[in-house]
Amino acid sequence: MHKKLNISFDLDSTLIPNGKEFETEKHHSLAKILKIETIRKGSKTLISDLQQQGHKIHIYTTSFRSKRKIRRALKYYGIKVDRIINEKENRKVFNSLRINASKYPPAFGFDVHIDDLEGVNIEGNKFNFNVIVVQPSDKNWIQTIKNRINSFKD
Ligand SMILES: [Mg+2]
Repeated sequence: MHKKLNISFDLDSTLIPNGKEFETEKHHSLAKILKIETIRKGSKTLISDLQQQGHKIHIYTTSFRSKRKIRRALKYYGIKVDRIINEKENRKVFNSLRINASKYPPAFGFDVHIDDLEGVNIEGNKFNFNVIVVQPSDKNWIQTIKNRINSFKD
């Protein structure tokens, strides 16, 4: 039995491409009209697989997109997440913490954070939180994440 985790995902260059850095899910013309962003291919399967295993999935981004906009885009792709932390909320919490980092997942109860930036991993080592770094170029990104998640034991 694996531990049930609160897992947070970064958005930019992790789930949402910056340009054409990875393949994306189908994006119909209606989505374009509604200004729904494209999402990394396999995101829905990965997130629903993790949820089926009993993990809770959250979004943790340092972008200022509104929570509503993020939730709406995810919903378009059939993805439902628990909490969404954007930069507005991140800053609010950081003002009360004396931590000099860009992200601090434990402040929101997240056990593991998934991000494209090695810098976040360095912060994780410094402030003792778990980060899974996924390169935008990693074609096996889903397996990379699942292997690391499964390595967290009770
Ligand atoms: Mg990023």
